[in-house]
Amino acid sequence: MKTVYYSGVIDTKDQGKLGVSVICGGETLEKALASLITSGTYYWALGDDVKIKEIRPYCASCQGSGRTRRGKRIIKYVNCPDCKGKGQGDVIITEIPLVPSTNISVSMA
Ligand SMILES: [Zn+2]
Repeated sequence: MKTVYYSGVIDTKDQGKLGVSVICGGETLEKALASLITSGTYYWALGDDVKIKEIRPYCASCQGSGRTRRGKRIIKYVNCPDCKGKGQGDVIITEIPLVPSTNISVSMA
């Protein structure tokens, strides 16, 4: 895959019950993590249990589907030439539970 973006899922649980699933991503792994943690923190602040899961690279050319459209009059779908129809890569990060830390120290130089 030449052009890639990274995406993952935020799963929340509200007192043991399934909450929401949110998909967030970014052009780099760092940007994807930043947006996942930012969005996850919102639900965490509401008191939910939050897990960030299944961060993997996706082909940016076909949005991870592996197929692209060809033709103007007769549209047919062909394997994406960028990723050869693969669409997405393997999971890089399986799971990050968003756990509040009580040991935060800030030092200012
Ligand atoms: Zn592709």
